Amino acid sequence: MIAAVLCAAGKGTRAGFGGNKVLALYNGLPVLCYSLSVFSPLADEVLVACAPEDEERIAQLLIPFPNARTVPGGATRGESVRNALYETKADMVLVHDAARPFVTPETVRACIACLMRYGSAVCSLPLSDTVAHTLDGNILDVPPRERYCTVQTPQGFLRDKLLHAYERAREEGRTFTDESGVYAAYCEPPRLFTGERQNKKLTYPEDFTPAERVGFGTDTHAFCEGDHIVLCGKKIPCARGLRAHSDGDAAVHALMDAMLSAAGLRDIGHYFPDTDARFAGADSMRLLQETVAMIQEQGLYVGNATVSIVAERPRLAPYIEEMRQNLADCLHIPAQCVGVAAGTNEGLGYVGEGKGITCFATVLLKKA
Ligand code: MG
Repeated sequence: MIAAVLCAAGKGTRAGFGGNKVLALYNGLPVLCYSLSVFSPLADEVLVACAPEDEERIAQLLIPFPNARTVPGGATRGESVRNALYETKADMVLVHDAARPFVTPETVRACIACLMRYGSAVCSLPLSDTVAHTLDGNILDVPPRERYCTVQTPQGFLRDKLLHAYERAREEGRTFTDESGVYAAYCEPPRLFTGERQNKKLTYPEDFTPAERVGFGTDTHAFCEGDHIVLCGKKIPCARGLRAHSDGDAAVHALMDAMLSAAGLRDIGHYFPDTDARFAGADSMRLLQETVAMIQEQGLYVGNATVSIVAERPRLAPYIEEMRQNLADCLHIPAQCVGVAAGTNEGLGYVGEGKGITCFATVLLKKA
């Protein structure tokens, strides 16, 4: 029988929430729910170690997971895990930080397989940074990196051996940052298995900002008198123009709205109102540049963008490559990361009747 112990009794002081960070929302869902949904199907029971003040809220989150229950957390992580070990009759336990929501079922299965084969299992990754031995702000020496690894969770142990290790540590008044340390000190060197880079611990406020954000925008302009239109910064000869306060570049306007909404900002009309004389006849590529600066201020940049133009006329195919390059230059990304598509509306509706054009845009913003 396998029990999973999720450590959720932390105070999250480094994350600066003034509350338990595993109850904070990540993409709209409490952080704890991510690891719960991974461990619940793979373990016979899930014990969530939590502080008394969080017990009621956490119990609510456990309702969809019938094999999960709360156990009283302790003042330290070690105390919490030791309490949980007393609460279970399982012979094998997997311990996991609830603040590591990106753990995958593959990693948990690898942990169980390693535990069954070697009697212990510690999730680890090779170091990518250099590690130095320091004293008072100076480096004493730099050991060979190959001999070191970072240690994560999940970690798997036989319950009785881990409990024995924790009891010994308590007798000696020693504390450890996690189970691998206490097990190594009082049992034997625990066995490592390789984890995944994505299985990181949410620690600081910026860790809670999603790394990728998708956005969608749309814009429509009606035809009026004129001899050209502007799309993606390209002036295109046309029997009619587009009615607009600015240059009427509906493709760029749709893209700007996609970027602003992905960044959680207000829409284009809020920042560039068509009642503002500053934007009369404005070059929309310049407004796009300003939008790029706005999302940069949010710590974001464009990963890739797509624009789709629906127009009965003029024929846009000859201009697509130049339009694509214009957008790529303005967004500071390679042209391969920009898609520009154009099509007609098969004669249907206002687009089909040649009254106007509509553009759609999607964008993926990434954390810088
Ligand atoms: Mg517009």
